[in-house]
Amino acid sequence: MTGGQIAIPGILKVGKGVLGEIGTFLKGSGFTQAVIYFGNGLTEMFGRGVMESLKQEGVTVLEYRELDSVQMDDIIELAFSIDAKAQVIMGIGGGKVIDAAKYAAYLRKLPFFSVPTSSSSDGFSSASASLIVNGRRTSVPARMAYGILVDTDVIKSAPVKFIYSGIGDMVAKITALYDWLYEDQNGYAEMNDFAVMIAKKAVNSFVRTPFETIQDDLFLRELLDSLAMSGIANEIAGGSSPTSGSEHLISHSLDKMLETPQLHGIQVGIATYIMSLVQEHRYQRVNTIFTDTGFWDYVETLKLDVSDYEKAIDMAPSIKPHRHTYLHEEQYREKAKRILREDPVMKRIFHLE
Ligand SMILES: [Zn+2]
Repeated sequence: MTGGQIAIPGILKVGKGVLGEIGTFLKGSGFTQAVIYFGNGLTEMFGRGVMESLKQEGVTVLEYRELDSVQMDDIIELAFSIDAKAQVIMGIGGGKVIDAAKYAAYLRKLPFFSVPTSSSSDGFSSASASLIVNGRRTSVPARMAYGILVDTDVIKSAPVKFIYSGIGDMVAKITALYDWLYEDQNGYAEMNDFAVMIAKKAVNSFVRTPFETIQDDLFLRELLDSLAMSGIANEIAGGSSPTSGSEHLISHSLDKMLETPQLHGIQVGIATYIMSLVQEHRYQRVNTIFTDTGFWDYVETLKLDVSDYEKAIDMAPSIKPHRHTYLHEEQYREKAKRILREDPVMKRIFHLE
């Protein structure tokens, strides 16, 4: 049980046009020497606006480049090539560049600004980074962002699948929390009350947000705020249990098995629905949000193979052998596989009839 010091970002800005104000946020925090990493191909899209904003505020950019690697060795090399004058590191882009920049900042003990350009997962607000170590994707400790800046106009302009991925990763907190409760009740883990409350409030506030389309400003802000809150829940808990349970194990298994897995939150979302039925907990709510947002309609177009999901369910416990989620018990793995074949929504998305 942790009750000690936790790190919480000092700056969290989610809204329209935030990217054009980056200079103001850096300067306002007292940073005048920055290193900026962009995701692959993003300099062309956002480079100019960002640079102008920094110039306007008198922030010197010591280095800016695109990054496309999450190899631990590459990031270590990168981190130690950073100019000694650097006061802050900023990562602008998708999950990869954010993980890389986050880890470089951790190695150099520099504050990190997380600037996600898509809403595909809660990684932008987590203290850990997913890197490739000795050929395997591994979650390594990094550092909590000093600042999180999200431009909802940018999020909106990204392909809609990224929004669906964010929705899936957010709704997953429902089953993740229930797995954690299950572990707590059976003596395998101890829940942290405050982390539970934060994660619960985050997901509930999100699923109750009214919307016309998933590109509504309010809906996107709720989604990003809630994903950011989830990262804080993990920080409080000192691990990922508040936000990642059996549904994430299924997705991690798929990542291992498949040559071209789907986006993280897409797989996680499908698995969340399956697990909510296994747990017999809030499955109607999960189905409603996936129906109303068009998540299911999107998933139906993906030509997913039901046998991949069957194998992923079987593989799930081996991904985190030290945990004890519902899927760590055979009876629930069997139940999950029955749901895959029998549930009407599953039949529809896997084209089983
Ligand atoms: Zn996730």
